[in-house]
Amino acid sequence: MAAATASTSFHIRRSFQYNGNLQNSSPKRVKAFQSPTIITASLEARRPQNVSGEFFVDHTCIDCDTCRWMAPALLSCPTSSIHTEKPPHDILEVQKTFPIPIDEHTLLGVYHCGYHSDKSFGAASYLIVRAEGNILVDSPRYTTKLENNLKMLGGARYMFLTHSDDVADHEKWSNHLGCERILHLLEVDHSTAAVEIKLEGSGPWNLGDDVTLVHTPGHTEGSVCLLYKPHKVLFTGDHFAMGELGWTIAERYNKFSVPKQLSSVKLMLDLDFEWMLPGHGRRTKFRDVEDKNLSLRAFLETKMQLL
Ligand SMILES: [Zn+2]
Repeated sequence: MAAATASTSFHIRRSFQYNGNLQNSSPKRVKAFQSPTIITASLEARRPQNVSGEFFVDHTCIDCDTCRWMAPALLSCPTSSIHTEKPPHDILEVQKTFPIPIDEHTLLGVYHCGYHSDKSFGAASYLIVRAEGNILVDSPRYTTKLENNLKMLGGARYMFLTHSDDVADHEKWSNHLGCERILHLLEVDHSTAAVEIKLEGSGPWNLGDDVTLVHTPGHTEGSVCLLYKPHKVLFTGDHFAMGELGWTIAERYNKFSVPKQLSSVKLMLDLDFEWMLPGHGRRTKFRDVEDKNLSLRAFLETKMQLL
């Protein structure tokens, strides 16, 4: 998504100290999965900004933000830029952890898929397990291990793609899981021409009684968010997120219209959600819908003053 920054080593160090509400996030689980051969080669590519210690980042880092908010980041790094100096020994244990339940108390059946892909600029993807058919939200990197784990949870009936940036290995997933892909027509290009369900117009569109797709143009013209009503969670793709410095619409990556993106943030005031799961940035749990709206209004007021 962007060139690596000089502060990468700081972020990496901090990410492994992260101890939020993610499952399976203790640092000991983030051991190496690179072969010793690769480790040797990577030591030569160790960025000079790395702090001393077992973990380090090489020059292939694309600054996708994944490692700053999740662990085991080493396995999810889309460019395999994170290494350790010691040989691997528990990679199989780490692999078994994906997809990871996000919060078994308030988000039962919602998982983080891990395996971020550089084809999606390292964006996160999610799985919703529901009686009406599971939904993959955006595309993880394809691996047979993840495929098997997803199948143990019932596979996927749909793959909902928030927009054209985060489609990664959509074709492989469609072939292996038999899921129908959903993407707004305005986002379709030659690589997604075969997508089974193309959304037209401005919606909203329903997938059963529990899921509504909401058109949120701005980041791209056909960006769409998914509202999963039973757990009041909004999957925002690249539309809106909590970044390192607070709420953000990531203007520097805007591909369509910043004013329209802000208008689409306003639309979120009318949506009934308490969790927000973005493609990039931090997942957020609001106290309640009113707390969500207070945060959104404060963000919009600050932005309007700057425009
Ligand atoms: Zn995007």
